[in-house]
Amino acid sequence: MHEIVVNLHVHSHYSDGTGSHAEIAAAGLKAGLDAVITTDHNLYVDGPQGYYHDGDRKLLLLVGEEIHDRTRTPQKNHLLVLGAGVELADRANDLAKLIKSVENLGGLSFAAHPDDVAAPAIGEEALNWEDWRIQDLTGIEIWNAFSEFKRHLKTKVHALFYIWNPHKIAIGPFAKTLRKWDEQLIAGRRLVGIGGSDAHALEVQLGPLKKIVFPYEFHFQGINTHLLLEEPLSGEIAHDQKLIYQALRQGRAFVANDHLATTKGFSFHAHGYGHTAMMGGTISARWGITIQIRLPAEAECRLICNGAIVNEWNNQKLCTHPAKETGAYRVEVYSVLHGQKRGWIFSNPIYVTE
Ligand SMILES: [Zn+2]
Ligand SMILES: [Zn+2]
Repeated sequence: MHEIVVNLHVHSHYSDGTGSHAEIAAAGLKAGLDAVITTDHNLYVDGPQGYYHDGDRKLLLLVGEEIHDRTRTPQKNHLLVLGAGVELADRANDLAKLIKSVENLGGLSFAAHPDDVAAPAIGEEALNWEDWRIQDLTGIEIWNAFSEFKRHLKTKVHALFYIWNPHKIAIGPFAKTLRKWDEQLIAGRRLVGIGGSDAHALEVQLGPLKKIVFPYEFHFQGINTHLLLEEPLSGEIAHDQKLIYQALRQGRAFVANDHLATTKGFSFHAHGYGHTAMMGGTISARWGITIQIRLPAEAECRLICNGAIVNEWNNQKLCTHPAKETGAYRVEVYSVLHGQKRGWIFSNPIYVTE
């Protein structure tokens, strides 16, 4: 498998971001990303997708869309649509039908920032996800960097503090979101977890001071989704796009806080009799299973099955666990940055069946 790093929730100047697609690609190249997916609000920007280069490094920029019903009060249910390849915002008023259309076009749909909160200090309302009865979603955004920023903003003073100290923000996914994800997994819905920056690179003017709030490059070194591809990226757009969306659909992915330290090399497998399953995969418990987790560095690691912690390790790089129960197994890894314990790696599940 070939690991790549993707930032897949990004706004350009076509909606409420400030950067062009070329500027976003350049920031992605500087941050060491392999791919960026832009997701402007209710606008599918056809044209800028393709490879961008910086010396011998290359980055694939793909275009998706973040769709919501602008006639709904209050505003809720932001849907990330990837790989559909056409404008779908005109179908926003019927969420179930919209998601079905995405599916029919071979695209992927994710509930964005599902537990977003209001931040009155910056005039932002709560854009959480309301409709959990919706079927056919590919997955949910378990960690959204902008949502986490909003949660810190009790007053305008807090807003200024965090704008000038952005490294203080990324602590981890909301516990409520992880609980909801587990509930869905227990109910048998195989939702893929992704992480997004929701990067806008907003400009704020404070008297004589002008500041970009979280430049794209900063965000791209933070909350990313790592994908495990069946083949390396070839440089051919249609082929590589297919590899990326296949890995996302199957949940061959983990969400990482790359501010802490590189998360490349993380692995999570279940080994059974003559068979191995990776993230997104299924394996039978019949002949006994050993779960193996390999961390990029020593850290605190938790193995979770159907929402409950079944094993924990401290300061270890290699963790093994004999699994007897069936269910959705996933991994959470925590590490320390600036004296504070933070979420580092959140795997997608391996499904252990009878
Ligand atoms: Zn949104
Ligand atoms: Zn967004």
